[in-house]
Amino acid sequence: MEKTKKTVIVAGYQCNNQCQFCINSQKRDFPMKDSALIKKEMMSARKRGNNFLELIGGETTIRPDILDLISFAKKLGFERITMATNGRMLSYFEFSKNIIKAGLNSVIFSIHGHNARLHDYLTGVPGSFKQLLGGIHNFKKLNFKGVMGTNTTIVKQNYKYLPQIGKFVYNFGFNNSEFIFVDPSSGAPHQYFNKFVPKISKAARYIRKCLDLGEKYKIVEKREPYCYNNNWSVRYVPLCYFQEYYPDQISESREVEIYKNVEHLAPDYQDFNATKGRREIGRIKTKKCQECKLYSKCEGIWREYIKNYGDKELKPIQKK
Ligand code: SF4
Repeated sequence: MEKTKKTVIVAGYQCNNQCQFCINSQKRDFPMKDSALIKKEMMSARKRGNNFLELIGGETTIRPDILDLISFAKKLGFERITMATNGRMLSYFEFSKNIIKAGLNSVIFSIHGHNARLHDYLTGVPGSFKQLLGGIHNFKKLNFKGVMGTNTTIVKQNYKYLPQIGKFVYNFGFNNSEFIFVDPSSGAPHQYFNKFVPKISKAARYIRKCLDLGEKYKIVEKREPYCYNNNWSVRYVPLCYFQEYYPDQISESREVEIYKNVEHLAPDYQDFNATKGRREIGRIKTKKCQECKLYSKCEGIWREYIKNYGDKELKPIQKK
C-alpha cells in the first residue's frame, strides 16, 4: 500500500468546551487563523503531494467558515478530509447535513467518558455528552458513508473506566477508536501534572482491558497492510507495558506503516515532520532503556512524565 502524506491544520485554539485537561488551555485566546491563510496552507499541502487533510482545533465546527473550508479542500482534491470534534455542533441536524455535503468524509468524535457524569465533568460543560451523542446519531441518520472514529484522552479521572468507555464506544458501532495517554508537555496537564497524569503502571491494566475489546470484537485484524478504517489502539505509552501482547494496537507503530509524513500547521508553529519532533523533543528513553530489545521501535515516554515520576516504572525487555 502506498503510504499517505497527511497535513494536520490547527485552525485555531478557541473551543466551545472547556476540557479540564486541555493541552491548549493557555492558548484559548489566540486569534483564530483566517480563512485565507488556511486555504493557502491547503493549497501548499496539495502542492507537496499531500492527500489527507485533518482539521483540528480548539473546535473547528464553531468557525463560521467551516463549510466553505471543507468544500475548498474537496475542490483541491484531498482524498480524505477529516475533522476531530467534540461533536456538539453536529447535534444540529442541518449543520451535520451541510458539512457532509461540503465534502467531509471522515470524522473523529472525542469521547472522554461513558456517561454524562464523567464526560461533562471532564469537558467542563453540562450537556456536552448529550450533544455529542446527538451528533453521532445525526451522522448515522444521514447514512454517513465515510469513516467514523473516536478518541479518548486517558487521564487520572477516567483511566479506571476505560473498559466501560471502550464497550460504550463499540456498542455505538465504532470500529476505529484511539485511546490517548495524556500529553503533559503543555497546557493544563503540564501545569497541573499531579491532577491529570496517571502512573502508567496503574493505568496499564485498564488500558489493556480496553485494548482486549479490539481482539474480542475482531476489530484488530492481524493482517497487512495496516489501514485507518479498522483501528483500536493506544497512543503515547511506553512499549514495555504493551508491545508483547498488543503489537498491532500501538498507534505510533501503525502510523509508521500508514503515513509517509505527518505535518502540523498551527497558528503558533509549523512542524513538517511531527513524528520526528515528538520523538526527539516530547518523548524520552532513559539510560535504563538502552538494554531494552524494543529500544529502536519505542518512543519511550513523555519527558515531563520522567521529570515528575522518574523512570522506575520502565521495564526493559531482555534481549535474548
Ligand atoms: S525502550 Fe524504555 S520505555 Fe521503551 S519499552 Fe524499553 S524500557 Fe520501556
